[in-house]
Amino acid sequence: MTHGHQLRLYNSLGRRVQDFVPSAEPAGMYSCGPTVYAFPHLGNMRAYVFADTVRRALRWKAIRVRHVVNITDVGHAVADTDTGEDKLEVAAARERRSVREIAEFYTRAFFDDIRALNILPADEYPRASAYVPQMIDFTATLEQKGYTYRLPSGLYFDTAQDPRYGELAQLDPEGQREAARLEQVPGRRRKTDFALWRAEQPGQRRVMRWDSPWGWGAPGWHLECSVMSIALLGPHFDIHTGGVDHRELHHVNEIAQSEAYLGDGLPWVRFWLHNEFLQLGAAKMAKSAGGAPRLADLTEAGYHPMAFRLFLLGGHYRSQLDFTTEAMDAAQATLRRLVARVQPLRPLPEADTLGAAIAAAATAAAATAAAATGAARALDLMDAAIAADLSTPKILAVLQDALRDPAIAPDGLRVLAAAADALLGLSLGTLDPADLEHRRSVTELAPEELHAIEHLVAERTQARKERDWTRADQIRAELDQRGVQLTDTPEGPVWRLR
Ligand SMILES: [Zn+2]
Repeated sequence: MTHGHQLRLYNSLGRRVQDFVPSAEPAGMYSCGPTVYAFPHLGNMRAYVFADTVRRALRWKAIRVRHVVNITDVGHAVADTDTGEDKLEVAAARERRSVREIAEFYTRAFFDDIRALNILPADEYPRASAYVPQMIDFTATLEQKGYTYRLPSGLYFDTAQDPRYGELAQLDPEGQREAARLEQVPGRRRKTDFALWRAEQPGQRRVMRWDSPWGWGAPGWHLECSVMSIALLGPHFDIHTGGVDHRELHHVNEIAQSEAYLGDGLPWVRFWLHNEFLQLGAAKMAKSAGGAPRLADLTEAGYHPMAFRLFLLGGHYRSQLDFTTEAMDAAQATLRRLVARVQPLRPLPEADTLGAAIAAAATAAAATAAAATGAARALDLMDAAIAADLSTPKILAVLQDALRDPAIAPDGLRVLAAAADALLGLSLGTLDPADLEHRRSVTELAPEELHAIEHLVAERTQARKERDWTRADQIRAELDQRGVQLTDTPEGPVWRLR
């Protein structure tokens, strides 16, 4: 295994698995990042764990990478449409905070979550609001080249001028399928045409507004990814990632405007990689204030962030995953078993780098212990699995089999655990088993007990509203007796079981 297995990735552009060889080093990689007007939910996190898996696969293959993840703090109108208010401005009004405060608060929440999930930091996290002048220049170039037309609502990209428009989404020529769910914009020539500049309407005054050749307004929400990726990675780069929902619209429009801007006839980005959805369904989590469950809800309910990571990696990134408490329980139990098994083998060797170095270590181990041939074989299976379009479930299975195999000596197991850790990022070398003990979960409560607790929490909120502090304290004491730990947050009270 001198070079190992050729890395192959499923390219959404053409819908096929292809050999991945970087066109330059470091390879450029761009991932669509968070829109920072609300807490990222568990479904959002799948995209970042997926991009992290790509990063780890490249590192394993000794391919250097430069990774950029954008922070959308302007330009994203409500409901992904081209007109109307920005999501950030709506959130600021709702929470009575400034747009800047909202963006900073939720950007920090995003960084907290990716750190908790052991996601490798990107090289750059550009903020859209810092690139508006460049977006205006980019748009002016498109206008000069004749790719745009003006309407009272802004400047639009004319998709009729792009014969390959929609190739990524495999849209029919009229692009009806996706465009059907879009808003009606008076004067728009085609349903697929999209706003590059969203002009302020008479009587409207945005909080975030810039002057431009097309009047005061804000950039269209596809623009930032094209502009910032080209600014930070160069005109062409190797990998663009995102959730599969972006494949049908956002990425289609990124490609159209970027290729029109560059005008060199080359595909803008070589590999488009998309992760499937995480179905959140009706999973019952700890009660926080509304919305889809987020990582903090999981930890409140007694799960370790690494258990969520293991749950995600237990499915292939191109398969839909159903998020259920049963699946989370199983993931936490699996992680607990893995850590208990790996703990006596610590410290694990440094295995952050490449498969080749680890293979050499396995070969050396084979020379000293006859039984280590099993380890070398398992290592080859792991390499084959990551190379075959990032088969993380297979890597987990190979590790679990190896840890059960009496023929593999501890030295071999150490290398295998370190290799799996490098690829999966589960922190097997450092996790404390005590952190994986399952606390009593909200989901284990009898319905009447859950109802009683929720009733008391609501009653206490009402008492506080009426400034009846004695009553509020009495209720807190009663909740305490029931083993409920209550925290007051800006979004309202949050509780969990001790
Ligand atoms: Zn994007």
